[in-house]
Amino acid sequence: MRKAEENRRLEELDKQCIWHPFTQMKEWQEETPIVIAEGRDCFLKDIYGRWYLDGVSSLWVNVFGHGKKEIDDAIKSQIDRISHSTLLGLSNVPAIELAAQLVRLVQRHLSPSSDGAEGATEKRAMPLLSKVFYSDNGSTSVEVALKMAFQYWKHKGAAGRNAFVSFRHGYHGDTIGAVSVGGIDIFHKTFEPLLFKTYKAPSPYCYRCELGGTHPDCMLGCLGELENILRAHGGEIAALIIEPLIQAAGGMITSPRGFLAGVRKLCTEYGILMIADEVATGFGRTGTMFACEREGVVPDIMCLSKGITGGYMPLAATVASEEIYRAFLGDFSELKTFFHGHSYTGNPLACAAALACLDLFEKERILERLQGKIRLLEENLRRMAELEHVGDVRNAGFMAGVELVREKETKEPYEWAEKMGWRVAYRARERGVFMRPLGNVVVIMPPLAIGEENLARLLDIIRESIQAATTS
Ligand SMILES: *Cc1c(COP(=O)(O)O)cnc(C)c1O
Repeated sequence: MRKAEENRRLEELDKQCIWHPFTQMKEWQEETPIVIAEGRDCFLKDIYGRWYLDGVSSLWVNVFGHGKKEIDDAIKSQIDRISHSTLLGLSNVPAIELAAQLVRLVQRHLSPSSDGAEGATEKRAMPLLSKVFYSDNGSTSVEVALKMAFQYWKHKGAAGRNAFVSFRHGYHGDTIGAVSVGGIDIFHKTFEPLLFKTYKAPSPYCYRCELGGTHPDCMLGCLGELENILRAHGGEIAALIIEPLIQAAGGMITSPRGFLAGVRKLCTEYGILMIADEVATGFGRTGTMFACEREGVVPDIMCLSKGITGGYMPLAATVASEEIYRAFLGDFSELKTFFHGHSYTGNPLACAAALACLDLFEKERILERLQGKIRLLEENLRRMAELEHVGDVRNAGFMAGVELVREKETKEPYEWAEKMGWRVAYRARERGVFMRPLGNVVVIMPPLAIGEENLARLLDIIRESIQAATTS
């Protein structure tokens, strides 16, 4: 009885005091919230003791499951030394060790000498990613990248590069700079009067090509449109920002092969910086350590967050090229300094967690062991594609989306208000799985380390839930 009262007190307090992100609070007030109390492996336990399989990696961040001893221990032992000091005018041990490891990792995976399939001829001109700028989350890592790119051109004496290029359906976070380069109308349109100038290139959304093309006959016409923008406005553009291989929050939109390499090539040709936002794709999600390596692409700036600490602590890194870094060097009085930083920049606990994660990637051969699971996921996606109301299935490695449609033939979508993605998620919840959809797209993104049995169970439940929600 005591316990039941305590649970109700928590539920009430939540409704009284918390304003949840991306949540219509009027609806929330009418529902009973799930309050998580514990986590183990790929499961979450609520205050009533019910377990849920974590189908979206606690919003795309979790890599090794919950309660992973090595990460817990790394954080605990760092607590015994120091929990936080600043990087403004000081340094700290885990931040240094991690920066060195990140630079090594990025260079190993994205160096000009690694054999990317495409782009061999560009190798000599490839940027050398060598400097880590820390912040706390994906959005801030993008803010840092945008400001860096803008100020870089000032230092180079190229005035008037005040605009950016980004893609429709792109998502780079919720702070205003990140929203400026965002391309999801329902999230971003409201804020339009506040935003700086960006040119929006077509999304490589083959299932619903905005140019009316069909892949591969289209010969990547979307790249042609991008080139038109660069030809017309190249001189006012500081940088292009892209989610490599897959536009995640936009609906798990995968780009056709060659698109990313084509974008890199155009950025180089028109002399603008390329920012790769690997916040979602980084740290193994697409089956390789970074998505860019799949097309032999090296960006000028790379944004990392989400999986960097295995989903245990907030941390982000913006990795910049040596060329960009050098442009900011000058005498104190020249004011070439990058005037940007956050209170918790380079937090030692978060960096210690990230170091433990990088160790685990090697020790547990996460990427090798992921390949079989990606195949299992793909087999299941093909089966789901046969369901009556599944219009499209797509994945980049271990990031997958199932797009639900009212009618397969015409690709007619469900109305936003029908909440079809959510109806699937609620069915899954009844079956002990936690999901969070993106509109009509069911997102499948479990922790990379999920066991094959749990993965198979997760996929069965998702399939059943889609079937149940769309035919009732
Ligand atoms: C999630 C995400 C962000 C924003 O990260 P936050 O930590 O939520 O601020 C930025 N870019 C991409 C590609 C993302 O998926």
